[in-house]
Formats: sequence, structure tokens, C-alpha cells
Amino acid sequence: MKLLIKNGIVVDPANKTEEKLDVFVANGKIFKIGRNISDRDAMIIDAKNCIVAPGFIDMHTHFREPGFEYKETIESGSRAAAKGGFTTVACMPNTSPAIDSQALVEFINLKSKQVGLIDVHAIGTITKGREGKELSPIGELVKAGAVAISDDGSSVMNAEILRRALEYAKMFNIPVIEHCEDPDLAGEGVMNEGYYSTLLGLKGIPKAAEEVIVARDILLARETGGRLHIAHVSTEGSIELIKWAKKQGLNVTAEAAPHHFSLDESTLKDYDTNFKMNPPLRTKEDVKAIRKALKDNVIEVIATDHAPHAEVDKRVEFNTAAYGIVGLETAFPLICEYLIRTGVLSLSQAIAKITVNPAQVLNLKKGSLAVDQNADIVVANVDKEVKITREFFASRSTNSPFIGKTLHGSVEYVIKKGKIIYQNAQA
Ligand SMILES: [Zn+2]
Repeated sequence: MKLLIKNGIVVDPANKTEEKLDVFVANGKIFKIGRNISDRDAMIIDAKNCIVAPGFIDMHTHFREPGFEYKETIESGSRAAAKGGFTTVACMPNTSPAIDSQALVEFINLKSKQVGLIDVHAIGTITKGREGKELSPIGELVKAGAVAISDDGSSVMNAEILRRALEYAKMFNIPVIEHCEDPDLAGEGVMNEGYYSTLLGLKGIPKAAEEVIVARDILLARETGGRLHIAHVSTEGSIELIKWAKKQGLNVTAEAAPHHFSLDESTLKDYDTNFKMNPPLRTKEDVKAIRKALKDNVIEVIATDHAPHAEVDKRVEFNTAAYGIVGLETAFPLICEYLIRTGVLSLSQAIAKITVNPAQVLNLKKGSLAVDQNADIVVANVDKEVKITREFFASRSTNSPFIGKTLHGSVEYVIKKGKIIYQNAQA
């Protein structure tokens, strides 16, 4: 099949392109990018008023399979990803069982191939069973196709084990992704510690719970020369530490989740459990600092932390509700609404954070629109309104604090290896 995408602004940060060009796709690959391309047999996509970007890459998602299929499966997650413009995701290993062996990485690979919608890469655990006690067989995980290791959901509290993990991961040139949280400091906290937690009478999580681990991990990255990636940065203090690490030339990268640059703790009203996530929503100053860090490239990746939970997990008291929100479908609208349309990031800066930058962190040869590459492409309208309703979600879960909101930023077409895998009904 041949596809010709016409009249759109091609935004391809990897090749420093941001101009009106046509994109011609043949045999699943990008065949040609240029002006006024025509072809009699090609199917035409009119990308007027739209950007044409590389398929988005989410390096932090939870598809819940195996073990929690009632929340999400690789199939439903893939559909949610496609709807959000993501043609590649990396799945966190905190499933049941946790992804700590070659066989389990192969299970993820097999399942995602059977679904066949997008590329789903596995992230293996740092420690067996995510118990923090014994290193996983990192070489085996990488051999099976794991693109990173992480005990996401918790930090590796034994510094010696994390040191060894950084050393092993370095041999395989993969990043160690740390969820930075000291469990003793976080205690039974359910939201940011401060004025609003006092007001609501809820237990707070101090910022230091994140920052002490960020600091420790950066020092271990310095000690080992290993590659450290800090997941879902939520505080200004963490950003200061990451800035310091970069100044020292350490191999440290970082990501922020859309909810952490779009919402602060004051939005947490009425004990709505869809505002409960980990790390929690922080202060206005933290939100401002995250936006600035995205602009200054102290944080180079935007990752969704897509964390689907069923009604039974969320329709309970705030203290007992599960942490996390779905994020794949709302990521692009939130980036448009809070980063692009506000002028915090240019189009190219924003798109880089969901394409070439995560590709670089995970060593994937993806995230650009180069000729001869697989045609993974998103056609999206930055200014078009989208109403976020329950029905908007393709995910099996709808735990989103954005339901009821109207945002700007609509994904119109998603193309994977030259095939249209999602098309907005109102395109
Ligand atoms: Zn996490």
C-alpha cells in the first residue's frame, strides 16, 4: 500500500525539520519527503492544519499483563497507545509475576506480536520479584529483548544492589530506570505533604522522600559510570540534583509525566481518587520548575506513567485507593495545552520529548522520519479541541482526572509500518 500525506507541517526534531512537506510511504517505509509529491495510486491523507511527526514513543507505561488483566491487557493497552499517537511503548515490569526472567520478556514480546498493533518493548526488573534483594539475570533479560531495567513502583533500597545493577547495565549499555521514593519517608502518605494535606486531613508524602533517593542514585551513577534514568520527576529539588549531575557530565537522564506539568496539589478536591498518584501532585512551584526543566532540557523525556486501575481499585476511600492514572490518550492534548500553546516548548522541542529523546535513552533506532525507516507516523492537530469523556478512552480503565475537561490537541491519524492503525472518526 502507498500513502501520501500532504499539506502538513513535518516536525522531525532528529533531522531538525519543521516545515510544510509531503511524506510518501511505500511498502511500510518512508520512501520520500519533499515538496509537491504526487502519485496516482497512493491513498492521500490531507494533513492540512496538522503536524506530521514520528510515531510517539512512551518509555513508561503499565499494561498490567500478566496478572492484572482486569485493569489492562497488552491488547487494550496497545489500542490506547495507538489512539494517543504512540507507535512504540516500553512496559514496566511490575506485573504478576514481575518480568524478571527471559521467559517472561519473551511472553511480552510474543503477546505484543500477536496483537500486532504497535511495538511493545519489555523492561525487566532490577531485582528478582522486585523484592530488592537479589539482582535479576540482567544479561538474560537483555538477550531476550529487554530495553531497560527497573523495579518501578519502588526504589531499590539496598545501595549496594543498585550499584551492581548500574555496573551490569553499563556492560549492556541499557539504562537503569529508578522510581525514586524512600518508603520510610513516604510512609502511609497519599498526597503531597503540606498545606493541602493538612486542609484535607490526609497523610502527606514529603518531597524529600523522592529527593533523597534521586541524590543517592546520582552519586551511584557517578561511582559506577552507569546509565541512570530518573522516572516521573515531581519536585523542584529533584530537578536541581539532576541539573548538578548533568553539570558533572554523568550519564543521567530524566522524565516527567504529563500530570506533573499540568496539575498541582490544589486541584485535589472532593477526595476524587483519580487525583491520587505516585509521586503525588506537588505544589505550583514544582509544576513551574518541571516546565522550565523541560524547556532547558534538564528533563529530556515526557513519559505517561499510564497506570490503569479498575473501578474497584479507585471507587474506595482516598486512603485505600490505588495510585495512578491512565495517560496514553491524554498525553498529546496535555502537551499541546500546557506546553506548546503556552509557548513553554516549541513544536520541535515538545515532539523530541516523545520521539527521538526516549528512543535515545532506550537505544531504539526510531523516533525520526528518515527515508528508508519504518513508516511510524502521527498526523495531529495541535489546535483542535478534544472533549475528554469516559468514552474517549480506548484503555480498559478510565481512571483519569481530566474527564470533563476540554483540551486542545487531537491525534488524527496514526500509521505503523505504513498501515493506518488509528483514525479519528472526526478527522
Ligand atoms: Zn513509578
